[in-house]
Amino acid sequence: MSIQQPCDSLWRASAPAASELMPLEQELDVDVAIVGGGFTGLSAALHLAKFGLSVALVEASEIGYGGSGRNVGLANAGLWLEPDDLDRQLGKEAGKTLYDALAVAPDYVYGLVEEYGIQCEATRNGTLHCGVGKAGLAQLQRRCEQMQQRGAPVTLLDAPEAQARIGSKKFNSALFDPRAGTIQPLGYARGLAHAALKEGAQLFDQSPVENVLPEGDRWLVKTARGSVKADKVVLATNAYGEYGVKQQARKFVPIFYSQLATQPLPQDVLDVILPNKEGCWDTCTVMSSFRLDQQGRLVFGGMGGEKHYHASWATQRVKELWPVLEKVSWEYSWTGKIAYSEDHLPHCQQLQRGLYSVAGYSGRGIGPGTIMGKELAQWFAGKRDALSAPMTTLRDIPLREVKRMFYEVGAHTYHVGQRTHVLD
Ligand SMILES: Cc1cc2nc3c(=O)[nH]c(=O)nc-3n(C[C@H](O)[C@H](O)[C@H](O)COP(=O)(O)OP(=O)(O)OC[C@H]3O[C@@H](n4cnc5c(N)ncnc54)[C@H](O)[C@@H]3O)c2cc1C
Repeated sequence: MSIQQPCDSLWRASAPAASELMPLEQELDVDVAIVGGGFTGLSAALHLAKFGLSVALVEASEIGYGGSGRNVGLANAGLWLEPDDLDRQLGKEAGKTLYDALAVAPDYVYGLVEEYGIQCEATRNGTLHCGVGKAGLAQLQRRCEQMQQRGAPVTLLDAPEAQARIGSKKFNSALFDPRAGTIQPLGYARGLAHAALKEGAQLFDQSPVENVLPEGDRWLVKTARGSVKADKVVLATNAYGEYGVKQQARKFVPIFYSQLATQPLPQDVLDVILPNKEGCWDTCTVMSSFRLDQQGRLVFGGMGGEKHYHASWATQRVKELWPVLEKVSWEYSWTGKIAYSEDHLPHCQQLQRGLYSVAGYSGRGIGPGTIMGKELAQWFAGKRDALSAPMTTLRDIPLREVKRMFYEVGAHTYHVGQRTHVLD
């Protein structure tokens, strides 16, 4: 496999055009102001507008600039945590509430795609959590049992079936979840923006929010050339909190995750690799993910942000997994920042009266971000009493930069090990 000079993100190259937005250059007065144009902010804006509230969303860069436009595109049910861990952390009742809300998240995401005609390569063929080694198999057996106990229609595939579905002999099992699927994530973010505009929300891009200030019992969201006065403000900046909302991002450890995409693969290779086009990730200690896009490119990713090293690791890894891939070149390469909360749970915080933040999806934000945005809108519109995720108050993570470095060095060391021995 040769490595061409990788360029930008596949998702930016292949997403349908974005709605034309303008920077915020006026003084607005609305019910709710939203900072950040990712899944959380866009879903909140869409639903608030649908419920008849006036809403202005202000994005520092472009719609989908953060994790929402850079992710793998696995539209999964539930969270990263195993369901029993969720109950242990939140207690049985609150654990069940959050589990149930997120179990139907793919239904909701694909429902919005259908309702608003969002062009995002939506493919609902399920996902495969791919087992590596004895520990991987044990983890999948545990997850399968816990999910089935809660009524999820998941099945644990044995080695021959998993290997046939993935097209690789390196896996001994796979947990198949037919509720889930893949999307083109930037296409989905841009589609949510179109939908929010259609419902009457006001959206602005290229407008970094520099300050959020109390003004009587209301709030003033200020950019360099404009402002939004609002009863309520939602900070939906997740790992990408910049400028005046930087302090929110300090409550999560930012983890870099990089992906590469090949050129479209020939049909004889596509007959072998993921013939059913499921989205996949593995059980390795340092996780890798893989999927196909609609043009038949293999999209392969793993933790770590160092581009050159990442490309050479990925090249070797995909050759090990699929020897049939000898002569394919990487065409795209990009990196995103995941907001890891210390308990791997998303957190909705009421920072002050009328000032909220939702973040910390820990790498599982397509369904959860869409659902949390919808629930915030329902709550503000008086259509529900509380969110499915508990309201919390988070403090800045001590030694956050040291922890980030620990993950980065840990991923690098693990990948070096993967290149010299077979790990987990
Ligand atoms: C590489 C990667 C792979 C992932 N894979 C998956 C996956 O396969 N499945 C899944 O479910 N989840 C996945 N995730 C997680 C998911 O992408 C995120 O949880 C989700 O996108 C978070 O959405 P959000 O709207 O909360 O934040 P973001 O999408 O990060 O949006 C935050 C926005 O806030 C803006 N902003 C920041 N500061 C300001 C300011 N001062 N003024 C105005 N705007 C501001 C940013 O520019 C950004 O656009 C992945 C994440 C990454 C990074």
